[in-house]
Amino acid sequence: MAWPAVPGVAAARLLSLQQQLAHSQWWPRERLEQHQLRQLGRLVDHAFSTVPHYRRSLAEAGFRPGHAITSESLRALPILTRREVQDAADQLVSAAVPSEHGQHESTATSGSTGMPATVVKTELEQIYWRAITLHHWLWHGHDFQLKLAAIRTDRSGGSDYPRGSTQADWGPPLAGVFETGPAALLEIRTGIAEQAEWLARQDPDYVLSFGTNLLFLARHCRDHGIRLPRLKAVVASGTIVEPELRQLCREVWDARLSDMYSAVEVGYVALQCPSHEHYHVQMESALVEVLDARGDPCAPGEIGEVVVTPLHNYATPLIRYALGDYAEVGEPCACGRGLAVMRRIVGRAVDMIVLPNGERRFGHYPTDLFAKLPAIAQHQFAQTGPDELEIRLVVRRPLTPEEEASVINRINANYGGGFRCRISYRDEIPRGPGGKYFVFRSELPA
Ligand SMILES: [Zn+2]
Repeated sequence: MAWPAVPGVAAARLLSLQQQLAHSQWWPRERLEQHQLRQLGRLVDHAFSTVPHYRRSLAEAGFRPGHAITSESLRALPILTRREVQDAADQLVSAAVPSEHGQHESTATSGSTGMPATVVKTELEQIYWRAITLHHWLWHGHDFQLKLAAIRTDRSGGSDYPRGSTQADWGPPLAGVFETGPAALLEIRTGIAEQAEWLARQDPDYVLSFGTNLLFLARHCRDHGIRLPRLKAVVASGTIVEPELRQLCREVWDARLSDMYSAVEVGYVALQCPSHEHYHVQMESALVEVLDARGDPCAPGEIGEVVVTPLHNYATPLIRYALGDYAEVGEPCACGRGLAVMRRIVGRAVDMIVLPNGERRFGHYPTDLFAKLPAIAQHQFAQTGPDELEIRLVVRRPLTPEEEASVINRINANYGGGFRCRISYRDEIPRGPGGKYFVFRSELPA
């Protein structure tokens, strides 16, 4: 058939979910929350009756199955920590996953914290993952007929520099539903200069990679006059997007940036709004709370811990899982969507800097510091001792003593001035697990 299409089973499922998401995004917040609680009630009953960990912890919390969950009773359910997930082994795995949820598969986090966690996922959960991925592409109005270049993990060796690999289409889930243009893939452990050279050869319309990798790439392209004339948009995932990256995408590539916030254990948490730089919680797929130190929901403007309940994983149910991230709650969005707003994702708890006086802060640095020092191609700060910071730099020319002093003074002042800072020069910033770069690392013993 040329037209209209009769989609196959997998495509029909995706499109039917897509149509529901296209409606529910405009529902009032209260209506979205009611439906979330209905789905949560089913998940919690299932967890109570088939998951050893929850049989214990929910019973201790006074939970009785078969009762509707309200936003108040939700807050009586215990928080699940990352450490509990790591230690739980099969105590968190359901003994009776409904057969309709399909095959199960274990997935391990990239262990960016150095402590990987493993959860079991089902085919059904993957359908929701793919539907939200599709939702992101449709939200941002990308033209699927054009060319996509992705720089991400491919340990097979088939996408190594200098060739990378090419595909006739964008792959799942898009290519299962739409006719797409071609795609090219490069293994992310390629050096930044080689990535830029490969990208210029590919001349893509869209680029997809991890946030910090894109930041270093954009700086390299700026400093070497590498233009990507067809580039229309950049899609980031996997690490925090620095404000400098948004600015460079506009200045260097004249391209828009959209960010996807997800975690391996929980799937999608939030996607960038099509019209703004903040994020919409994907309330159809996850119940997300942002909680203050007392465990109460944060108000707009407040920063709190992100606690996520993926609503459709019946193999390893994660109920009120504190995955270690912090975010700032936003006001309702002017775009009219009822989906809750995160103004920004702030960082991970494990990558908080501990000041010499014991106070903990996020490892943010003054964004304008590097805009003023284009000699710096890549950077990373690491806390290497209670009052020690190491500033790791990849530079195009040696910094002058004045520049070195200005970097040290700005960084030290940013963290209250109590640190002994030293600069070390590197050929390349070391990547973390999964090939990701991190601009701040806490290397203090746990
Ligand atoms: Zn919006």
